[in-house]
Parts: sequence; structure tokens; C-alpha cells
Amino acid sequence: MKLAELGEFGLIGQIARKVSPDKTVRLGIGDDAAATEPTPGCLTLTTSDMLIEGVHFDLDWCTPASLGRKSLSVNLSDIAAMGGVPRWFLLSLAIPPTLPVEFLDAFIQGMLGLATEHNVTLIGGDTCSSRNGLAISVTLLGEQLPERVVSRSGARPGDLVFVTGTLGDSALGLEMLKKGERSGPAVEKHLDPTPRLREGMALAEAGLPIAMIDISDGLAADLGHILEMSGVGARLLLDEIPLSPFYRERVADYASDPFRLALGGGEDYELLFTAPPSAREEVFAICRSCGTPASVIGTITESAGLTIESATFPNYRLSEKGYNHFRND
Ligand code: ADP
Ligand code: MG
Repeated sequence: MKLAELGEFGLIGQIARKVSPDKTVRLGIGDDAAATEPTPGCLTLTTSDMLIEGVHFDLDWCTPASLGRKSLSVNLSDIAAMGGVPRWFLLSLAIPPTLPVEFLDAFIQGMLGLATEHNVTLIGGDTCSSRNGLAISVTLLGEQLPERVVSRSGARPGDLVFVTGTLGDSALGLEMLKKGERSGPAVEKHLDPTPRLREGMALAEAGLPIAMIDISDGLAADLGHILEMSGVGARLLLDEIPLSPFYRERVADYASDPFRLALGGGEDYELLFTAPPSAREEVFAICRSCGTPASVIGTITESAGLTIESATFPNYRLSEKGYNHFRND
């Protein structure tokens, strides 16, 4: 069937039928607004991300299911970075009339499969046609007790800087895709990143992170956000930045500076946070128990700015600060 035959309301009906029931949703898709029941005592955390064809994704590279997952994952990652519990989301789509209905089915299937994994429910959205490619906007609502919400500010001199997982894989994956490679762990991480929700929640529950952010624009840029919001600086230990075996093996084919993609490349969706040195072992244990090891990559300093230290590259200079949509180089 063509999208023109199915129509806006046919499509919305198809989406609505695939949504799992949720007791906290009094009114879901189909009314003028959704009505949801908040958890008493919790703050509402709200985040929104757009994915635009040609800017954020290329339909030749991703499957519809992975695009559906990623559109939700990037939002789940923002709630993880607040230490929050994701609950409900809205999906807005601008769709080229030529897009096959099968594509949309698989896209929704991928997205709602991930939603079920994380207990989040689609409660509404908006649908319109597009003359210039597919545009996807997801708005996700989460919850957390006020004392457990972790912001980007508050990092203190002496805090250690932690990061989950490994860095640079997603940016390496993007470089590989541009050169025609279509598989491998880096490509997979780029197309279908895993939001560190369990890690973020468990750390927040234990009251450990002082300041936290998810790495969407690159380590240097996102650490910069924590430093700016906290009014502090940091010493970054280049040799401690966690790199995957695959990254170590392949980065030389794509970048002359082996740290460029790990420091400047975005979309790893790992958690970057600070905690006092006394919390070190507990942080390691919590992250390990959630399935994603954490590493210490530096220390927060009183003096502003980011200094990079390395025994192997003593004069290392940051060549790229991270992804910036409005930069034209
Ligand atoms: P209105 O004109 O009152 O804004 P719409 O016709 O846009 O309502 O939407 C009808 C219902 O379908 C609403 O509940 C809306 O939230 C939902 N909806 C529309 N588009 C989507 C979508 N892409 N995904 C999920 N729900 C949607
Ligand atoms: Mg509407």
C-alpha cells in the first residue's frame, strides 16, 4: 500500500495499535492531548531531539529499524544523563509521500521494540508530509526524585572525571560508512547506539555523580559543557581515554591523530560524570554490574580550561572541539 492510500489517520492508527498498554497513561494516542499520571514526589524531566535526513542520517546506510531505535535512543541517553527514569514519549514525523509504508512499519517496529525494553510508552505526536526528506522529532519525558536528579553543574575541584564504555567508535563508524563500509562494531555503534540508562539510574540512585552529561557532541565539547556550567577546569589524561580494540586497530586508516575521533567525534552516547575520589571503587562496581565498565580519565581543577596530559604524546594539542551544527569547516 502507498502512503497516499493509507493517509495520515491510517498511519496514526497503525502506530497506535502497536503501542503496549501502560497503566500510567489515562489517555494516549487519539485524543487532543495525552493524559499521564505522574509519580508522586518526582520531578518531570523533558528532552527533545530531531533527526533530519541528510543532516543526521542517510537512508542508504541505516535500516528503518535501526533508525527507529536510534531516534529514541538519543533521547533515552539524555534522560540517562540526568539520572532519570524514562516514561513517555511523543513522536513527530515529516514524511516524504514517496516513502514506502513498509519502511515506516519497520521504523515503528524498531522504535517500539526499544520502548518496550525500557518501559517507555508512545503517547502521541504529530504527522505531516515533507517535500525535502524525512524528519523525525522525539520528545521524551522522564521522572526522578528531586534529590537524585543530576545536572551538568556542581563539579568540584578534586572530583575525578569518569566515562562509561569506550570513545570514538561512533565517529569511526561514520568515517567508515562514508568510505563505503557497512558493518563492524564501529558502524553498529554509530547506527544503533546503546543509551546508558541502567548505569545513569544506578549511579544516581547511589547518589554518586556530582555532575553528568551524555557524550553526543564529543568528549572535549561535552566535558567543556560540564566545566562551563560548574565554573571549573579539568586535567584530562589522554593515555587513560578508553579505546576499543577495534578502534585501536582501525583508527589509523581514518585519522592521522589517533585521539581525534575519541576526543572530537560525537554520538558515542556514553556517560561522562564527576564524583569524589572516595567514590571511585563504588562507581566502578556499579557500572560493571550494569554491564558497561567505567574509566577515570582526569581530575577537576580550580583553574578554568581543559589541559591535556600524556606520557606518550607530551605536546598533544586538541585539533577538533566536537560537532557544531553551525560551523562551516
Ligand atoms: P490534532 O489535530 O488535534 O493535533 P492530530 O490529528 O495531529 O491531532 O493527531 C491525532 C492523534 O494522533 C493525537 O493523539 C496525536 O498525539 C496522535 N499522533 C499524531 N501523529 C502521531 C505520531 N507520529 N505518532 C504517535 N502519535 C501521533
Ligand atoms: Mg496535531
